[in-house]
Amino acid sequence: IASHLLAYYFTELHHDQVQKVDKFLYHLRLSEENLMDVSKRFRREMDRGLGRDTNPTAAVKMLPTFVRSTPDGTEKGDFLALDLGGTNFRVLLVKVSDNGKQKVEMENQIYAIPEDLMRGSGTQLFDHIAECLANFMEKLGIKDRKLPLGFTFSFPCKQTKIDESFLVTWTKGFKCSGVEGKNVVDLLRKAIKKRGDFDIDIVAVINDTVGTMMTCGYDDHRCEIGLIIGTGTNACYMEEMRNLELVDGDEGRMCVNMEWGAFGDDGALDDLRTEFDKEIDAGSLNPGKQLFEKMISGMYMGELVRLILVKMAKEGLIFQGKITADLLTTGHFKTSYVSAIESERDKEGLLNAEKVLRDLGLDPTAEDCIATQRVCQVVSMRAAHLCAASLAAVLRQIRDNKAAERLRTTIGVDGSVYKNQPHFARRLHKMVRRLVPDCDVRFLRSEDCSGKGAAMVTAVAYRLATQHAE
Ligand code: BGC
Ligand code: MG
Repeated sequence: IASHLLAYYFTELHHDQVQKVDKFLYHLRLSEENLMDVSKRFRREMDRGLGRDTNPTAAVKMLPTFVRSTPDGTEKGDFLALDLGGTNFRVLLVKVSDNGKQKVEMENQIYAIPEDLMRGSGTQLFDHIAECLANFMEKLGIKDRKLPLGFTFSFPCKQTKIDESFLVTWTKGFKCSGVEGKNVVDLLRKAIKKRGDFDIDIVAVINDTVGTMMTCGYDDHRCEIGLIIGTGTNACYMEEMRNLELVDGDEGRMCVNMEWGAFGDDGALDDLRTEFDKEIDAGSLNPGKQLFEKMISGMYMGELVRLILVKMAKEGLIFQGKITADLLTTGHFKTSYVSAIESERDKEGLLNAEKVLRDLGLDPTAEDCIATQRVCQVVSMRAAHLCAASLAAVLRQIRDNKAAERLRTTIGVDGSVYKNQPHFARRLHKMVRRLVPDCDVRFLRSEDCSGKGAAMVTAVAYRLATQHAE
């Protein structure tokens, strides 16, 4: 279809088409009332995760991170950081200098993790990580230095201290044997020792949400929440020690890695999960787990759209009922297509829809393009709104902790969905403000990836260790 024709059809067909699709997608469109209800449910889940007696059966684990303070601006030194579990695997060198004003310089390198390594043996995975680290240090000429390292490991982990972290379960695209239940610091140390060509001092393991909060906390001292909406989704925040029944002590605060992706794993969201959500789950690497994450994050969003399109085509609502082998193939509708189709400018989005559908072997009409765009909108909007609902619960918790009438706070955010989808951030912010009108929230994009946060945590841990030694 030529673009001028498309523009003509657009105004004519848009309304009807949207109504038709919306009717079909009724269960994916959540009202503000629905969302307020989800928010209340999530707040209860938080309480259950925090309580000593309720934690063992809670779906949302509220994991203590042993990170007790954010950067204070006096940290300095050279630090290495690893970032595993997001879209990319990265190795970083972070130089924090402190001559008058604190300054941070970074070198970083992205390395591939082949798919077979993501689902192979744990030994292979950690050998590969050690090899990338060796390569990086070689390149920068620092292989003879024993530097402190912070490890951003973006999976649910039980921590007992800052440098001991036991993997609870793999999520997203990873499933390596022999790692669940193990201390990942040990596994990394062993892999490095086996090589024998360099040495490092692993000082801290952190979740990417914590890294994001710390990175943003460096620029904005009010930052007390870290949020990721990327391949997976999750958030952390600073909780009062007195509410953290799993850790001794009542003084001060500690960062809690909520692992909110597991919300719903005990059935708490069953009334909102659609047939498409169930299908995604059934075909995933971890059925029955991370059910909230599967409704939201980038690992699943394109696939959700694909499943919906298949069903609509089967019912003859689009593509004149035609289905191609490509459309039927898992993974062939990438989450990045959702961004392209939802492009800032409507018409460009429709042209992108046409291209995507043609590449899937279809011969779409203008109506089909409009319908596809609407499906992308609805799926992405639901994701943004569900995040807003859980975030609202966290904001209320922090406000109540401070017994404040109004809360003024900053959320550090990272992740490919948040950053790349043209309308995602705006939809999220808007719904958060509606659900908690009594909070002034600043959303701060983390510009330097959570790896820098790992270096900052390492720097803080280092500062505290040296202070205590004095
Ligand atoms: C993991 C979290 C992580 C999130 C974002 C989830 O699958 O369980 O630990 O923070 O993805 O990367
Ligand atoms: Mg990341």
